[in-house]
Amino acid sequence: MIRLLILSILISLSSSFVSINAQDVPKCRTYDAIDMLLLQYPHLREQMEHNETELDEFTADYAANRAGGDDEIYLIPVVFHVIHEGGVENISDDQVYDAMRILNRDFRLENEDLADVVEEFSDLPADIKIEFKLAQRDPNGNCTNGIVRIESELTNEGGSDMKSLSIWPRDSYLNVWVCADAGGAAGYTYVPSSVNGNFGLSNDGIVLLHTYTGSIGTSSENRSRTLTHEVGHWINLRHLWGGTNQPALAENCDVDDGVADTPNSVGWTSCALSGESCGSLDNVQNYMEYSYCSKMFTQGQKVRMRASLNSNIADRFELWQEDNLAATGILEESILCFADFTSDKQSTCTGSEIAFEDLSFNEPSEWTWDFGDGTVLIGQDLSNPIHSYSEAGNYTVTLTVTDGEETITVEKDGFVSISASDFIATPFEESFENLENEVNEELKWVAQGDEGTENWKLYDNTGYSGEQCVRIRNNANLIDDEDDLISSSMDFTGANEIVISYKWAFVTKNEATDDRLRIYISNDCGNTWQQKKIHRGFTDLPTAEASNFQFVPDSQDEWSEYALIIDNEEFFGPSFKVRFNFTNYGGNNLYLDDINISSANDLSTAELSAFSSSSIFPNPSNGSATLALSLIQTIESGRISLWDSQGKMIKNIYSGSLSQGNRQFQLDHGDLSEGLYFIRIEDGQQGILKKWIISK
Ligand SMILES: [Zn+2]
Repeated sequence: MIRLLILSILISLSSSFVSINAQDVPKCRTYDAIDMLLLQYPHLREQMEHNETELDEFTADYAANRAGGDDEIYLIPVVFHVIHEGGVENISDDQVYDAMRILNRDFRLENEDLADVVEEFSDLPADIKIEFKLAQRDPNGNCTNGIVRIESELTNEGGSDMKSLSIWPRDSYLNVWVCADAGGAAGYTYVPSSVNGNFGLSNDGIVLLHTYTGSIGTSSENRSRTLTHEVGHWINLRHLWGGTNQPALAENCDVDDGVADTPNSVGWTSCALSGESCGSLDNVQNYMEYSYCSKMFTQGQKVRMRASLNSNIADRFELWQEDNLAATGILEESILCFADFTSDKQSTCTGSEIAFEDLSFNEPSEWTWDFGDGTVLIGQDLSNPIHSYSEAGNYTVTLTVTDGEETITVEKDGFVSISASDFIATPFEESFENLENEVNEELKWVAQGDEGTENWKLYDNTGYSGEQCVRIRNNANLIDDEDDLISSSMDFTGANEIVISYKWAFVTKNEATDDRLRIYISNDCGNTWQQKKIHRGFTDLPTAEASNFQFVPDSQDEWSEYALIIDNEEFFGPSFKVRFNFTNYGGNNLYLDDINISSANDLSTAELSAFSSSSIFPNPSNGSATLALSLIQTIESGRISLWDSQGKMIKNIYSGSLSQGNRQFQLDHGDLSEGLYFIRIEDGQQGILKKWIISK
C-alpha cells in the first residue's frame, strides 16, 4: 500500500514538472549554492554545522522565553546592486521599488490573496512584523537612493566575483544583487549559519534574476515573490521539505524544516492545494515551497525568522539596531540630496524626440528643465519630459530639483548634439586636419562616453595623413570604459552602396587584451544602431607591437585600414550616421584617421554610353584580379588607372584605344596594402570609378 501511495505521488509530481518548466528556471538554488561553497571550502563544514546547532538552540530559547512578548517592528536597511551590461537586466528604479513593495506587503501580511489560503491553514498566516527600507545613506554616510548600478559582464556569472564588484557591510545592510544569471535559478542566498564569520562577509546577501525581481518591467506578477522566498532563507527558513533544492523526493518526508506548524512535505513545484505528500495536507501555499501560488508564512516561521534577527550569527542582530537605522538614513524623511538625469539618446537629428529621465534622489516635488535652446519647463509632474530640438547644435541641459526645502541643480555641458538631416555633404573625407581644438567644433563629430575618463579627442601630434587625427588616451582608462565617436548625418538617398573606410592604430599592453572597436551605422539619425564590424584585441585590432608605454604610432606601418561596404538599401536615406565605439579591456591608446564615407553615386559619373558593363572579380581579392569590360563602341583614346581612397592616382594601367567588344585587364596587387582602391576608366572626357578592395 505504502509503495503504491509513493508511486502515485511520484506520478503526480512528475506531471507537475511541466509547470516548473513554464517558469524557465528553478525557483531557488540556495542549498546548491551552499553545497558549492562546501566543495570549494570543505574545512567550513564543521563550522557551519556548529553555527547551525548554535542558532537552533538560540531559536528554541527565543521561542520558549521571548517570542511571546516581542511585538517590535524590525526595520532592515536594504541596498540593491543592479549589475548589468546596459541591456534589459539594467532594470528601472521603479522595478526595484516594486520589488520592495511586494516584499513589505508579504512580510506585513497585507497581501490581498490571503483570502485564498485554504481553510485548514487559515489560522496560520503570520504578520512577521519586519519591514524593509532602501538605504538613504551609504557606508560613507553619503546620500543614496539605495540602488547601485555597476556595468559588468559578470552579471552573466552571478557568483562571488560579481558580488565583489559592489557589496556593502552586511551588519548594516541586506545586500541584494540583480543580474542576468543568478546561478541558473530565479534566485539564491545563504542561510545565516552558512555565512557566519569572516568568510561570509563577501558572500552574504541575496542574488536575484532580473526577470524575477518585482512584478513590473522585465518581471511579472507570477514571478514577483522570489525575493520574499529568498529573504525567508536569509533569515534562516528552510524549504518545507528541508534543506535541499530537490523537491518531490519521497525521502523528503523524513526531513523537517525546523518549524512545528508546517506539515512535512516532499516539496511542490505545482499548486496542488489538496496535496498530502507525507500523510497530511501540505501547506502548498507557503512562501518556502516552489509552488508559484505562495501567499503565506506561518506563525512558527515567524518565530524562527525573528529569532535569527535576534542572534549574532552572521551579524543579523546588528541590522535593526537604532544606531544602524540612523547611520543608514532610513529613519529620516526622504532626503533630497542628489540631482542627476539621463536621456534615451544624446545624438540625434532636429525634430527627433528625446526622452529625458530624472535620476535625482530622493523624491523631488518640482522639476525645472532648461534644455539649452530657450525652452524651460517647470512643473510638479516633470520627472521624465520629452523634448525635441529644431536647430542643429550642441546643447547644455540643466536640471534643477526641489522638495520645497532643498534645491539642487545639475548642469551637463553639451549634453545633446543635434544635427540636421543631411548635415554633412558627401563624399565625406575626414582627416581631422581642419579642426583646431575639439572634435565637435564643426558639428561633424560628437564624442560621448563614460564620464571622468578619457574619451575621443583631437590629437595634433600625428596622423596617418597630415599632422592630426583623433585618439582615445586609453592607456589609463578603466576596464569596461566605453567611448563613442558619432558622425553627424549624411544624405544617401538613392545610393546603391555606401563605402566607409578608415584607418586606425592601436596596441595592447604587454599582456594581450580583448579591447573592441565596433562600427555601427544608423538610418535614423542615431536613434537606432546596427553593428556592422568589430575589430578585437585578440585578432585584428592591434596594429603594432604591444607596449606598456603611452602608444603613439611613429610611422604609417603602424596603422591598419578597413573598408566597410553597406549594400542594405534600408540605409540609403537622408539621416545616415556612423559611430565608432571603443570598449576598453585594458589595452593601450587608440588612434583613428582618414574616415571616408561615400556612395558609388558620389564617386562615378553616369555610365558612359560606350560601356554596356564593367566588373572586377574577385572583389575583394587577395591575389590578382580581373577587370572585365564590355564596350558597345570603340573608344579611341581610353585610359584605365588605379587610385587610392584618398583620391590620389597610384598608377596608370592602360592608355590607348579600347576596341568594341569584351576586353579583360589583369589587376595586380603589387605592393599595395590592404584597403579600398578605385579603378578609373575614361574615354578622354568622362570616366567611371569601380571600387576594388584588397584584403590580404
Ligand atoms: Zn529556496
